[in-house]
This record gives sequence, C-alpha cells and structure tokens, in this order.
Amino acid sequence: MYERFWQQAGDKSTIVIPGWQSMSYFSDAGSLCWFLEPDFAQEIIRLHKIVGNAVTEDRHIVVGTGSTQLYQAVLYALSPQDAVEPLSVVSAAPYYSSYPLITDCLKSGLYKWAGDARSFNKEGPFIELVTSPNNPDGYARQSVVNKSGGILVHDLAYYWPQYTPIISAANHDIMLFTVSKSTGHAGMRIGWALVKDEEVAKKMVKFVELNTIGVSKDSQLRAAKVLQVVISSCQYPTSLGSLFDFSAHLMEERWSLLRAAVRQSGLFTLPEFSPGSCSFLNRSFAPQPAFAWLKCQELMEDCEGFLRSNNILTRSGKHFGVSPQYVRISMLDRDENFYIFVERLSTIHLRHSIQVDERGE
Ligand code: PMP
Repeated sequence: MYERFWQQAGDKSTIVIPGWQSMSYFSDAGSLCWFLEPDFAQEIIRLHKIVGNAVTEDRHIVVGTGSTQLYQAVLYALSPQDAVEPLSVVSAAPYYSSYPLITDCLKSGLYKWAGDARSFNKEGPFIELVTSPNNPDGYARQSVVNKSGGILVHDLAYYWPQYTPIISAANHDIMLFTVSKSTGHAGMRIGWALVKDEEVAKKMVKFVELNTIGVSKDSQLRAAKVLQVVISSCQYPTSLGSLFDFSAHLMEERWSLLRAAVRQSGLFTLPEFSPGSCSFLNRSFAPQPAFAWLKCQELMEDCEGFLRSNNILTRSGKHFGVSPQYVRISMLDRDENFYIFVERLSTIHLRHSIQVDERGE
C-alpha cells in the first residue's frame, strides 16, 4: 500500500553505504543502547514530536530487529531471574496471534503465555500486553486486568494517524513501535522501544546483545533516512501530501469500499468505530484499522474455510483467542489485490446462494 508514496519520493529516500562504512559492532559505545545509531535515535524523537503520538522525554530508546525482537527483550527484562515459576503473560482476546507463539516457542522458565487477560485470575505478578489500536480488531485499548502486580507493555505499532485519530501523546512506561506499520518498511526489520525505567532498558539491551549482538546498522541508517523523508513530507508536503495524508486517505477509501462490499454481501459484520479528533491531521475521523475483523453469519462455523472456498485468504479467529466465526483480513495489500478482494467479497452472496441451492439447504 505504501509503495506508491515511496516511488514518488524517489531518490530522496535513497542511501548509499560504501563498503568501508558501518563495519563495527558499535554505534555509540558510551551510551546505554550502544548499538543504536545516533542519527536513527534523533529521527525517532523528531517523528514522535511532529506526530504527537508518544512522549519521548525521559525515555531510553532501545532499537530492535523489528518490534518482534523487542517484545522478547521486554519479556526477558521483566522476568525475575530467580522466580520459582514462570511469569504469566496475558492480553485481552482477541489478541495479536504471534504473542502466544513467540512467548512459548522456547518453553522458557522465565515467562509463560497465560491467555486472555479478561479471564486471568492467578495470584502473583504478571505482564499484560496492551495493543492499541488492537491487532486484529482495531479498537483503542487500555489494560483490563483489575489487580495489582501487573506490569503493562504497550504495543503501539498502529498508533499512527493513518489508522486512528491521535488523541494524545502516549505516556506509558514501555511502548513498542515499528517501521512495518508506520512507513510500510516491514522488510527493514526495525522497531524501537521507549522505556522509562533505566534498569528495564539495560536488560532489554542485554537481551539484544545476547540474541543478535545488536541490530543491523545498514537497516538503522536506512530507517533514519526513511523517517527523515516522512518528517520532511509533514513539513513540506508534496502533491501526495505527507506520508500520513497519503496513507490516511487510502485507508479511508479502502474502508468505505470494504463496508460497501460487506453491506452488499449481507453475510458479515464489521466492527463499528466512533470518530475522534486527531491533533495531527486536524480533523475528526473514525478509526480505519490495518485489519478488517470480519464476523460471519451465525450459521457459518468456519469463516476462514468458507472464504478460502471463495478465493479469499484470511486468518481464523481461533489464532487470536476467539471463535472461528471471526477472521482477520489485511487492509494493507497493494491496490490491485485489495480491489480483487472487495470485488470477491461483494459478490460472495451470489456464489453462496448457488452453493446452498446445490446442497438443497
Ligand atoms: N506488534 C503488532 C501488534 C503487530 O501487528 C506486529 C506486526 N504484525 C508486530 C508487533 C511486529 O512488528 P515487526 O514487523 O516490527 O516485528
């Protein structure tokens, strides 16, 4: 979805790295996050300032190979090394399907996936992941576990103005961000954490050191350039507007096409959102999430299977801790694929009634 913007940016977003450059493990040997490129750190701060989506003052920045690595670094940093049992990790369903998989893949003694935060009632400390806007359903979220001993981790991958109005600067203890969902550069594998507590930040740095001895400098330098172009697109917009104007516009268009297709099909429902006033775009609009969280008619048990039989590939609700009556569909594909998807969805009722007739239901 973002390719068109970056094609138009052309050489402004090109960098050249000669063979002799960026060879050392170290980026800034004396600083807490010694593998963080100073130019990248500076662009992160400038971007958050201009968008107004997160407080960066009194925060340590930790860079990661995607926010996926930082998620693991956070789990490591927050788990006591000498606990008798693993720390519980919870998130309200529907939750991002990778959380349980990543949390338990190494069967760590330090932490363990404990499922839906709403039904969590175990005594003792725990980590609650708050994804806002949420993947898969797009709603803005706050913590739901109503007891003490919890440490909150805010995954703010989608807290950008193309997806949701920026209501205020997020000001949490641990916040995760990624270029995947802000600029579209998922393949660069760069994420960053804004961390209040120095000891937590130090342990996260230790994890990245043990895991990959730092983060690709080439990627960080490219990310710094990409953020610099995003910032200058906000300050001096071209005919496409800023990156956020461009992508917010596209998302609005796509959501209106999707809602029309869903109405025409009569077989599904979508989440409804209330508008909010965005301090960055200076207008009020309803969230237009990166994913469509589609609920199929009561009678349809396996929505993923039904849609697959209609050549629409989705991810079943069962991966997100809820029923297979729900599916998640990406809204960020290239134009041509998105148009084919809404076309297939809008005519699905015709094929469905033929299938039902053939079965004599
Ligand atoms: N958190 C959430 C909520 C996500 O949806 C994703 C990507 N699907 C990630 C983290 C992972 O981001 P990254 O590409 O930076 O590893």
